[in-house]
Amino acid sequence: MTQEELFKKLVAHCKEYGFIFPSSEIYDGLSAVYDYGQLGSELKNNIKRYWWDAMTKLHDNIVGIDAAIFMHPRVWEASGHVGAFNDPLIDNKDSKKRYRADVLIEDWIAKQDEKIDKEVAKGRKRFGEQFDEEQFRATNPRVKEIAAKRDEINVRMAQALNANDLEGLRQIIIDTETVCPISGTRNWTEVRQFNLMFDTKIGSVADGANTIYLRPETAQGIFVNFLNVQKTGRMKIPFGIAQIGKAFRNEIVARQFIFRMREFEQMEMQFFVRPGEELTWYAQWKEARMRWHRALGFGDDNYRFHDHEKLAHYANAAADIEFRFPFGFKEVEGIHSRTDFDLGRHEEFSGKKIRYYDAETNESYIPYVIETSIGVDRMVLQVLSAGYKEEKLENGEERTVLSIPAPLAPVKAAILPLVKKDGLPEIAHRIKDMLKYDYNIQYDEKDSIGKRYRRQDAIGTPLCITVDHQTAEDGTVTVRDRDTMEQIRIPMEEIPALVAGKAGMRALLDKLA
Ligand code: ATP
Repeated sequence: MTQEELFKKLVAHCKEYGFIFPSSEIYDGLSAVYDYGQLGSELKNNIKRYWWDAMTKLHDNIVGIDAAIFMHPRVWEASGHVGAFNDPLIDNKDSKKRYRADVLIEDWIAKQDEKIDKEVAKGRKRFGEQFDEEQFRATNPRVKEIAAKRDEINVRMAQALNANDLEGLRQIIIDTETVCPISGTRNWTEVRQFNLMFDTKIGSVADGANTIYLRPETAQGIFVNFLNVQKTGRMKIPFGIAQIGKAFRNEIVARQFIFRMREFEQMEMQFFVRPGEELTWYAQWKEARMRWHRALGFGDDNYRFHDHEKLAHYANAAADIEFRFPFGFKEVEGIHSRTDFDLGRHEEFSGKKIRYYDAETNESYIPYVIETSIGVDRMVLQVLSAGYKEEKLENGEERTVLSIPAPLAPVKAAILPLVKKDGLPEIAHRIKDMLKYDYNIQYDEKDSIGKRYRRQDAIGTPLCITVDHQTAEDGTVTVRDRDTMEQIRIPMEEIPALVAGKAGMRALLDKLA
């Protein structure tokens, strides 16, 4: 099965099992907007909890807030979003399709990497055991030629984006002979800037109506509350403010399911530090955030850093954490050293002093900021695409299983009475009652036990607890593990500790300590 087929199956699976539905589906959906179903919202809540607890419970100096989506319009002038939150777009005149110019170029660059990989594979076949990949990459003329062209285009793109040179971007598309994937032609329009913010009106829609924006990021809600939190929480630098909330961007190209949505959710943390110390903190947060991802156990090779060559004018360092999705390595999180840009601009635009008095150095200054910014939806996609598996079992049967890390699984345990009689359902309900205050638990008595296991595998339930006739006699149950499919027999009293050890949030948080 190709990665593309796998991805299609995953999207269908998400709908079939109540994880993710297209928005307003009975009206044929709304492009790049999705709804989370009964299991998707549980998974999403668990991901948010993992992040929130890792930030606020494992750090004494990080607190969380929940700011409003609507903010004073001046906020977005100060932050630069009104003037510069743009994407360069280009249309193909034949297909009438619209693309982000930089994404077209990035796709071309990714194709060059694929070409190089193909050459490497050929080399490996030709040279067999003696093959030295590093040397091949460094010396093979064809590989060198492709890599040189790729690097040149990369540099030209960074320069054009930095200089806001729209004609330069178009020229790269022409020079790389990029064609529209739909029409196959090179009949391109000029490149234009397109602002990504949604606007709406507040108050009466009469003359005095004010245009306000749906926030395109949650970070500004943290910056404008810096003094409120610092003073009321008596926070001392270094300290952080965390927030989870919706953000909205009128994305030009909506692709790849919930990877790029128009309404999505972010988890952002702004960490305020002394000027001059920001790069040390930046390095620490990069590592801390990578640890958080890797603790999920999807394999260290499936993550990488991508250090930015093109820095926003206010940043002095920036990197993405990328995850290997079925459609390639893509950003899930950004870590940015944003200097004192945001607080400084809010000081300027609001006319209010936003300073911190540092009793240790006896100085007053605008703190510097390290930001960690991650998309909840991209995390959901990470967990689902890493966990989705189709397996052939020893007995020839097939099963679809979602190997979701147990603490994030939507349902932690299923309680299954072997038969619907002989007092077994009553015992099963008692077990459910014992667990239901702490975990999301399912009770299922329908169909054969094998079918019930398959249903739970398909939604990623880590533990199936079966109540049989022996339970009625000696109070023991069997517990089946989703991943190994092994079964153990334990006394009922041990169930809460077993579920906690396997699927409690602490099991995951402990890995970070
Ligand atoms: P991209 O380059 O993919 O557009 P970005 O660099 O604009 O992303 P940031 O502004 O750094 O993204 O936002 C931080 C995080 O928010 C991203 O790492 C991503 O996880 C998430 N995010 C951003 N835009 C979207 C979107 N349209 N849909 C879903 N998640 C998003």
